[in-house]
Amino acid sequence: MNIIITGGGWAGCSAAYMARKQGANVILIERTDLLLGTGLVGGIMRNNGRYTATEEMIAMGGGDIFKIIDENCRHTNINFPGHAHASLYDIAKTPVAITNYLKKIGVEIKLQERVVRAQVEDGAIKSIQTSSGEVYAGDAFIDTTGTAGPMNNCSKYGNGCAMCVLRCPSFGGRVSLTGVCGITEKTGKKADDSIGAMSGSCKLYKESLAPEIIETLNTTGVAVIPLPEEFVENHLSVKACQQYALKEFAENIILLDTGHAKLMTPYYSIEKLHKIPGFENARYEDPYAGGKGNSMRYFDMSPRTNALQVKGIKNLFCAGEKAGLLVGHTEAIVTGVLAGFNCTRFLRKEPLLELSRKTAIGEAIAYVNEEMEKQEGLGKKYTFSGSVLFEHMKKLGLYENDVNKIEEKIKQEGLFNIFAS
Ligand SMILES: Cc1cc2nc3c(=O)[nH]c(=O)nc-3n(C[C@H](O)[C@H](O)[C@H](O)COP(=O)(O)OP(=O)(O)OC[C@H]3O[C@@H](n4cnc5c(N)ncnc54)[C@H](O)[C@@H]3O)c2cc1C
Repeated sequence: MNIIITGGGWAGCSAAYMARKQGANVILIERTDLLLGTGLVGGIMRNNGRYTATEEMIAMGGGDIFKIIDENCRHTNINFPGHAHASLYDIAKTPVAITNYLKKIGVEIKLQERVVRAQVEDGAIKSIQTSSGEVYAGDAFIDTTGTAGPMNNCSKYGNGCAMCVLRCPSFGGRVSLTGVCGITEKTGKKADDSIGAMSGSCKLYKESLAPEIIETLNTTGVAVIPLPEEFVENHLSVKACQQYALKEFAENIILLDTGHAKLMTPYYSIEKLHKIPGFENARYEDPYAGGKGNSMRYFDMSPRTNALQVKGIKNLFCAGEKAGLLVGHTEAIVTGVLAGFNCTRFLRKEPLLELSRKTAIGEAIAYVNEEMEKQEGLGKKYTFSGSVLFEHMKKLGLYENDVNKIEEKIKQEGLFNIFAS
């Protein structure tokens, strides 16, 4: 089984892990010089329903990536407005830990290789080609190229290239594998029907903040600083992460310690920031132009089944943001594991796995697909950690924090250790 994965964000890394565990030869192709994609500047895990999804995946036997993240957290079990029992991973250590793990289990990682073409015959991909001219032939493929950028999308639908961690000018912009196969893709919208959504957090260079803020962040993981009314900037409606579109995130500066000081707003004027006590010397670490804008996302999502097979190409699977309007690392990891698993089932000619809708993960995968068929559904974002999907989970009784009960449910659904088999 030769499986080629395009895109080394959380979804691609997780698909690579599972496909390799299932015995495939795996090549993971990433256009930049680092794995983890937007996860390089993320960090929030296990908040609200993400806790349930994480523990479900561990009970299903596909939790190695989550275990590595847990080992690399700076803070665990913290609360911030609207969010309970969160963990914050260290944005410096985690990418290295994941890269080393994937190498150790035998995933072949190709960095600074950008897939730009695919050779499709009889509805299946034969090979893909990168911008350097390298050709990779495989038996099955996974598209985990994400939905962020490239620069022309950030300029057209956002406030311009904000110089984010995806570093399009240096490595070339995102190219969708599904798109180059000629499949028509979907684009997300904002509530006002305009296209795309803006990433919802920036990172400040922690050492540029006042010592007492640094101390609070280092010891508690969270700092909430009320803003005088004239300093309130309301960017809630443009946010990709609607779970943080709460008024507390406009009325306060909310910082989380991921190594950087994660500032929970899409952008905020640096001139204003410098007038706030403790922020006189503040500098943006990501995106560099965080005073003006942020990366734009949710372009080009693949049409897919609930087994994460791309409709229209037999041997192509997808995960993460490619698989729909799913926001978050947890969401990318659980879909990545399922895509990696089903890719090997496909090659073994075994029936593909669709997760039971009695699990939070199974319900999320099916629900977002259904919602994206509706016009209003394209204007929303879906995450276990808040907003519509978390409310939906709670209504169905799928939000659970008791690890034993989660394991029991997974056993009842016949899914215990399914990914470890
Ligand atoms: C600033 C920011 C902060 C965030 N913070 C959090 C957080 O704290 N917690 C949380 O849960 N979520 C957070 N998110 C959301 C989360 O990061 C994403 O939803 C999730 O990680 C998406 O993973 P992915 O693998 O689907 O896509 P991506 O992370 O976008 O990864 C896609 C990868 O594919 C590569 N690629 C694209 N095209 C090609 C090609 N043609 N050839 C080769 N490689 C290609 C890209 O370089 C990239 O590495 C944040 C997002 C942003 C932008």
